[in-house]
Amino acid sequence: MKDYYNILGVNKAASQDEIKKAYREKAHKFHPDKSGGDDAKFKEVNEAYQILGNPEKRSQYDRFGTADNFGPNGGPAGFDFSNFDFGNMEFDLGDIFSDFFGGSSRRGSSARQMAQRGRDIGVTLEVSLEEAFRGVAREIELRKLVKCHRCGGEGAEPGTGKINCKTCEGAGELKKTQRTLFGVFSQTAVCPTCRGEGRYPEQVCRECAGEGRVRKLEKLSIPVPAGIDSGGVLRIHGKGEEGIRGGEAGDLEIKVKIKPHPVFERDGADLYSEVGISFVTASLGGLAEIKTIDGQVELKIPGGTESGAMFKLAAKGMPYSASRRGDHYVEIYIRTPKKLSGKAQKNLKDIAEEL
Ligand SMILES: [Zn+2]
Ligand SMILES: [Zn+2]
Repeated sequence: MKDYYNILGVNKAASQDEIKKAYREKAHKFHPDKSGGDDAKFKEVNEAYQILGNPEKRSQYDRFGTADNFGPNGGPAGFDFSNFDFGNMEFDLGDIFSDFFGGSSRRGSSARQMAQRGRDIGVTLEVSLEEAFRGVAREIELRKLVKCHRCGGEGAEPGTGKINCKTCEGAGELKKTQRTLFGVFSQTAVCPTCRGEGRYPEQVCRECAGEGRVRKLEKLSIPVPAGIDSGGVLRIHGKGEEGIRGGEAGDLEIKVKIKPHPVFERDGADLYSEVGISFVTASLGGLAEIKTIDGQVELKIPGGTESGAMFKLAAKGMPYSASRRGDHYVEIYIRTPKKLSGKAQKNLKDIAEEL
């Protein structure tokens, strides 16, 4: 990824005015019509300013490292990525699907000239605590832009080719002379007819109307790793929306949310639960059955245990590495019997005299 701040020679805290000023200086310096100009650098400076000069695009770039994502209509079902609160746990799943779905396609340089990366997609995935404990593969469905299968993303009706653009005569750009403060410049602008490709379909694809992409439902199986916590993010490269004109596809970012559990509370890798024991066990000691995230265990209760006592079941919490687990803390409360036989009541009275 390009460091636009570095290209403009400003720091990340620079004000919009400072960015504008830096852009003017650099654009002036590298302008290809000037002696000592540099076409490649001039283009880079312009690209940087298009992002950093626009406060909205800039904040997206700061946050996601790319600016062509998360538009106001970005993501499925109006998902608003700008409020996404990323957890500190992030799993990079890389291009795990490339073996199944085929890698992203690359086209010739003329097409790539105006290539644009596809949008990233953000979704939230809810899993149970048990699923987070073991890890789970979850099916999700996404309605998103994928490559048009009719035209293979080319935008031309099958059997028809592309013809040279008449507006720009195949150049992909239009030259325009402009008088400015710095002198007379000839500027180039992207050809609006062919959008920079230099060619356009002789006959546009019926399926995608020449766009090369269509909206489609895609099913994916998401591997949720064991131990993940709420707010954890799974990132899958290339499973966002298809790029434009051969641009790479965006990423899919899955924010994991753990459903509340009726028995356990979680704090990082540790689990907490409350367990009631009879006042007899509390007084005399004994065994209590404890439900843990992976089955029942017996806990030895010492005699004279008070309500609120905490016991630790070591390594019975959530996994936090391949072989390590947090602890499970059990808080004891004492159950008071509601109904007692006459005999039991008499026995208790005898005990009460003793205390
Ligand atoms: Zn098509
Ligand atoms: Zn053109």
